[in-house]
Formats: sequence, C-alpha cells, structure tokens
Amino acid sequence: MTGETMSQNFIHDIMDEELAVGGRCEGKQVHTRFPPEPNGFLHIGHAKAIYVDFGTAEKYRGICNLRMDDTNPTKEDELYVNAIKEDIKWLGYDWKDRFYFASDYFEKMYGYAVELIQKGLAYVCELSAEEMREKRGDISKPAESPYRDRPIDESLELFEKMKQGAFPEGTMTLRAKIDLASGNFNMRDPVIYRISFMYHHRSADKWCIYPMYDFAHPLEDAIEGITHSLCSLEFEAHRPLYDWFIQNVSAPSKPRQIEFARLNINYTVLSKRKLRQLVEENLVAGWDDPRMPTLSGLRRRGYTPLAIRNFCERIGVSKADSTVEYGFLEHCLREDLNQSATRVMAVLRPLKLTITNYSEDKEEIFEVENNPNREEDGKRNVTFSKHLYIDQDDFLEEPVKKYFRLFPGNEVRLKGSYVVKCTGCVKDDDCNVVEVLAEYDPESKGGNPADGRKIKGTIHWVDSKSCIPAEVRLYNPLFTEADPDTGKNFLEYLNPDSLETLHDCKVEAGLMNADAQQRYQFMRMGYFCLDSSDSTNEKLVFNRSVTLKDGFKGKS
Ligand code: ATP
Ligand code: MG
Repeated sequence: MTGETMSQNFIHDIMDEELAVGGRCEGKQVHTRFPPEPNGFLHIGHAKAIYVDFGTAEKYRGICNLRMDDTNPTKEDELYVNAIKEDIKWLGYDWKDRFYFASDYFEKMYGYAVELIQKGLAYVCELSAEEMREKRGDISKPAESPYRDRPIDESLELFEKMKQGAFPEGTMTLRAKIDLASGNFNMRDPVIYRISFMYHHRSADKWCIYPMYDFAHPLEDAIEGITHSLCSLEFEAHRPLYDWFIQNVSAPSKPRQIEFARLNINYTVLSKRKLRQLVEENLVAGWDDPRMPTLSGLRRRGYTPLAIRNFCERIGVSKADSTVEYGFLEHCLREDLNQSATRVMAVLRPLKLTITNYSEDKEEIFEVENNPNREEDGKRNVTFSKHLYIDQDDFLEEPVKKYFRLFPGNEVRLKGSYVVKCTGCVKDDDCNVVEVLAEYDPESKGGNPADGRKIKGTIHWVDSKSCIPAEVRLYNPLFTEADPDTGKNFLEYLNPDSLETLHDCKVEAGLMNADAQQRYQFMRMGYFCLDSSDSTNEKLVFNRSVTLKDGFKGKS
C-alpha cells in the first residue's frame, strides 16, 4: 500500500455515518472493489477510480478486491487482464489474494435468476430487441410484453432450455418484472439474460446465456461481501435497479452503491473504445504509446506513480462533472521530478562550439551536482575540451532584445566549467551557421570569473570527444481541440505534430549507463526518461516526459 492517506470526501462522510454506532456497517470492515472490464488497457480515468477504491479501503484499514468484470464474452482478452494487473501494481496498490473474475459466478448468477423466476419476478420474453425498443420507447407507460404474465413453470422450463442452447441468439431473453410505468427506464422490465454463442475467454463454450451488466454487477458485489460499491456517475440512474436485485434475491450481503464524477481531461479522450480505435487503426504506436492517456503510455512517457496519485488526490472526489486541464497533470509530474530527477546535460539540436584559445590536446574534468534539491545525490564528472556542442538556440548572430546567450562579443557561462566570450561564427555556402567560435577565460574555472564580473547567461553544453549520440522524442498533445468530441468524429482533431523525433542529439557520456527506471532533467530542456521499448545500448532513445515550465500548448 502507498502509506498516503486520502483526504476526506463525501463518500467518506457517508461511510463515517454508516460505521458509527447504530449505522448500517457498525463493526464491519470497509470492503471495496475495482471492477474493470478486460476489454482494453487502463487509462488515467481508471487511475482515479483505483485511487478512490483502493485509497478509501486503505484510509479505513479495509480491503479492496480486484475483479475482472468479464460477463460480456465478445471482447475480453487475457492480454488485457495481465496489463490491468501490471498497471495497478505499478500505481502502488495491492489486492493481495483478492483477485476475482465475475465469470466465476456464472453458476450462482444463474441460480439467482431462477430464484427471481420462481418468485414471479422474472419471465422469459420472446420479443426481438427491436420490438422491445418500440414498446419501451417513450415517457408514457409502454405496452406490455405479451409474455409478461407467462406462467412461472413455463419460464423456468424455457430458461433452462435457453441455457442448454435450444434457441438461436436473439430469440429469447430473461427479463426482470419490475415496473413498466417507472419514470426510470432502467426499471421497465430490463433484460437480465441474453443468448450468445460467443466463446468466453475463461468459461469457453460452457455458457450460451450471459447475464447483463445491471444484473451481474450488484450480485458480484454481494457475493464478494463488498460494503461500498464505488463507481462513476453514469451508474446513478441504475442504482434503483442495483438495489432491486440485491433486495429480491437471497444475496449473501447488501452492498451500497455510491457514485462519483468521472475524470475528464482536455486535449485527450478517456474511453477505452476510442483508445482501442487509435491502436487498431495504427494512429499511435500501441496502447503504451507515450502520447496515450493510458497508464502504460504515461509510464513509458516517464510519469511516476507518485505523480499520478498526487494528481488524483488533488483533483478531489465529488459528484460534479468537470474537465481537468491536461496542464495540471503535467504540473503534478513536474513537481515530483523537480525533487527526484538527476540533472544532466544534453544538446538536442547540436551546433559546434570551438574554444579557439584552448589547447587542442588539453582535457579537463569538472564536477557537477546531480540534483541541487538533494545534496545526497552527489556529483558527477563531465569532461571539457576545445570542441564542444551547444544547442542551436543558444547562438544568434544578431541578438534580439533580452537575449543573454551567445552572440558576437557576448559572454556566457558554460554550466559548471568556464566563462566564454563569443568571437564569431563559421558559415557554410548556404549561409547557415555551422560553428561558433569563442575564447574562454582561464580565470573563471567552475563558471565564476575571478574579478567578480557579472555573467547573465548560463548555457548547457557537451564535450564533442566524450558525448554520445541519442534519439530524443518530444511530444505535443494528441489532439488539437480541447474537447475532441465536439465534432462528428474525434479523429478529425488528431494532432499531426504530436510527435517530433530528433535523431542527432548529443548527450553527456555518463548517460551511457542510463537506467531505465531513472528520471533525468536535461538542463533547460525538460524531464526525460529512456524509452522502455525502443532504447538499446547501441542506440539510446529518450522521451521528453514534460517540459520544465508550465508551457502547455493546446493548439499546435
Ligand atoms: P471506458 O468508458 O473507458 O470504456 P469503462 O467505464 O467502460 O470505461 P470499466 O472497465 O468498466 O471501464 O471501468 C472500471 C471502473 O473504472 C468503473 O467503476 C468505472 O466507473 C471507472 N472509470 C472508468 N472511466 C473512468 C473515468 N474517466 N473516471 C473515473 N472512473 C472511471
Ligand atoms: Mg464499462
């Protein structure tokens, strides 16, 4: 567990009342669950639900189950099950031995359905989906199904035959007999079982009838002894149905459903269906593409579990729907990395810098701090010689206002080494600057001139002799529109410039041994990490996790 305590929210207020003397849960242990459907990878919205489910259990010293909600046989996959487990563990949560599959309860659910029929509370209906829709369609009381008053024994027999595979798909359903006049459409005799001859990833061909979500979910909770079933707001109108099932079958416990607002973030989409579309149409490089809002994408991008948990804590839990700025997620990452990242120097768009008064065969070693926020992280050595690289942006032949970097006649500090004065530049036939010339001040070792004169600019650099090549990937938002769902199709707003790859970067020699787990601050350039899929010893690949300053650009 994380050791952090979640702030009090309205769910906890309800729990406090229920746990108090005389309350519904007096003397009970809080028991929650996280119930993903294994039909895609988890995204940052799920992180909020995980934070609420596991974080609440942790706050109350309770327990939280991980349950694969795999009652729908069409889309589930073992690959997703494993990815979901990995992501939750990575976030810092542990279900211990409480890992379940809803499909393990198919037998029990079937029994509860039979119980409803026996009580006269469910019937086998032979209307097609379309006929049902027509009859259920408007605000006024819908027409009754002609099968609503079918004798109990007949329904029992037909339901048994449905189970045995005697009828084709779509010909029969089992429906709860509730209230056709209800203002809540969910209560108008909802379907609770349907016929489907699909293969199921766990129960294989054993079943050809499958329970609907609204029937299955409360029973899964009740079977597991869940005290509080926390879910997002779209299930609010389903709660009366949730309660109805719990009350009308001999369920072993009576969980309570409490809804909270979903997380929405601008400039991205949080829907497994849409994320799957991006993957399947090869519009991104997989579920863990660093531009994806999936937990595996964020991890590959360089997000830390702590940054994501802090984000979830700070956006809070309420019943009001809202959209959080993508920039706020970045802010939470920056805050963590500012404390923890190792500082290094890397030149992303290299330009030669030659120190004309430095001897060709001389080499010096300078000690540079690894993290000004953490002295205990120590120092590292960087080499210095006559031929260096600086970033193209750090030289201008004709300076603009407030430009304190290199231009002819100006002095800058090369981080941790010497002060140098620009004396000119060399151009190619097309007038492009290909080399900058400068003289160093031997009396400025470590970066401070002996006579105490002020040097306004400090720039980063690498030694051309020892530096190593690297590829660096810079990321922009995946969508150009704050709400990609405004138009007809969210794909219209896919940002063609969401990935910028720089192939010829030069990074300081120490990064030869870069650690995949380590986060780095490339001085003045942002926070970076090795790409977990594409980086090799022969070819280093870094991802920019986030820029240094809050400069989130929605529009590109
Ligand atoms: P999607 O719409 O992305 O497919 P889902 O709700 O179908 O998501 P599930 O696997 O059913 O995905 O979700 C598991 C749990 O995560 C549910 O309890 C759901 O309420 C919660 N959840 C999903 N998306 C969000 C979100 N954006 N914010 C908060 N909770 C979410
Ligand atoms: Mg769902």
